[in-house]
Amino acid sequence: MIYMDNASTTAVDKEAFDIAKKYLFENYANPSSSYSMANDVKADIEDAREMIANILGARYNEIYFTSGGSESNNWAILKSCELMENKGKHIISSRIEHHSVLHTLSYLEKRGYEVTYLNTDEKGIIDINELKSAIREDTILISIMFANNEIGTIEPIKEIGKLAREHNILFHTDAVQAVGHLSIDVNELNIDLLSASGHKFHAPKGIGFLYIRSGIKLQSLIHGGSQERNRRAGTENTFGIIAMAHALKNSYETLDKDSLYVKSLRDRLGSLILKNIEGSHINGDMENRLFNNINIYFENISGELLLILLNQNGVCASLGSACTTGSIDPSHVIMAVSNDKKRASSSLRLTLSKYNTEDEVYKTFEILKKCIEKLRS
Ligand SMILES: *Cc1c(COP(=O)(O)O)cnc(C)c1O
Repeated sequence: MIYMDNASTTAVDKEAFDIAKKYLFENYANPSSSYSMANDVKADIEDAREMIANILGARYNEIYFTSGGSESNNWAILKSCELMENKGKHIISSRIEHHSVLHTLSYLEKRGYEVTYLNTDEKGIIDINELKSAIREDTILISIMFANNEIGTIEPIKEIGKLAREHNILFHTDAVQAVGHLSIDVNELNIDLLSASGHKFHAPKGIGFLYIRSGIKLQSLIHGGSQERNRRAGTENTFGIIAMAHALKNSYETLDKDSLYVKSLRDRLGSLILKNIEGSHINGDMENRLFNNINIYFENISGELLLILLNQNGVCASLGSACTTGSIDPSHVIMAVSNDKKRASSSLRLTLSKYNTEDEVYKTFEILKKCIEKLRS
């Protein structure tokens, strides 16, 4: 099997797993208990929190552990609205957000909120001027993703943060595809709320965090015990938290080297495809783009059939988000950037990681070329 679907999920960092497995088999105490075994885990969780905070330029008490990106997005958006309900009911977001943002917004729209969905250019980047003119007296939240999960475009986060700050509007970013892949400083970028998910950067599934700038009194989404300083109830995923902190630290320690390596593989794969497969076109922007992502439109191809053939030949790829796969809807992201239904159902996403090899890149290209020829004949 050749795994080229790292935007869906990643393999767990071996070292992070080895460090964290102690919390499954040896020190499995509930951190809220009162014996020293529990106090030790509690202290280790706080160390993990500090490690993550340091990486993002945050303070340790601004990091809250959650079950992942979807929960963090739901929490940030729903509770920002509750917090700001006296100011207004208008939210600004974009058409290319992940479904955990879009579906939360449509839930709110059914309850009296109004959402402006910004368009993007044909490369998937929002227009700052359009954002500027969308801001109103009653705008309470701007939620724009850091980097897109389908086409990898990186949004102008610094400019968005600056605008939000000038207008006293909360700024949330779904940074699930960016954390572990891009250097991020929440203060430099004026981010108020940032969602992240461990399994997108070589930590296990089911663990993530929400950065909440101190002073923002976001209420709990999950009610119950007093974990996470009373803001997110539920017994801590001790193994996940420790593994996530170490996976994140490892990602950033070798980011310069790994990003160059993965980018060179990605560029190699991209140019092989674009040069040698007729009727293939890139989706997204080549400059403001995650280093591991390539997304290509193949003319006269059914994306779904292509995926099936690739799978039969041992290549794991995706049409866009994993959530879209299995449904017949064309990608909402490619639709937003191209308004072309054919393009949106005939585009393939390949996302690499440091665990891919040059040999896999050549093999993937050869298999892809054969599959496309077969489908077109
Ligand atoms: C994967 C992903 C999510 C969801 O994260 P989970 O931890 O799987 O819930 C949200 N946003 C983006 C951009 C993603 O890629």
